[in-house]
Amino acid sequence: MITITCDICKKKMDNPITDKTFFYYANFSMCEDCKDKIEYSVKPQVRAKEPFAMDWYQKTMRDTLGRAAQRSRA
Ligand SMILES: [Zn+2]
Repeated sequence: MITITCDICKKKMDNPITDKTFFYYANFSMCEDCKDKIEYSVKPQVRAKEPFAMDWYQKTMRDTLGRAAQRSRA
């Protein structure tokens, strides 16, 4: 059995299915709940960003994930 720990909420996931129950982005592993939360918090920034730039998006996702991971560690 494979167990992966969510980097954001530290929840353990047994037998994770990539892109279904478990998501991987910018060296962060995350569960579906956390992926939804991260996307939700990034979405307004993405909408406001004009013109949209992929490297900006990737950096924003990394920063948001890093902050979220730090918060749960404290
Ligand atoms: Zn999580």
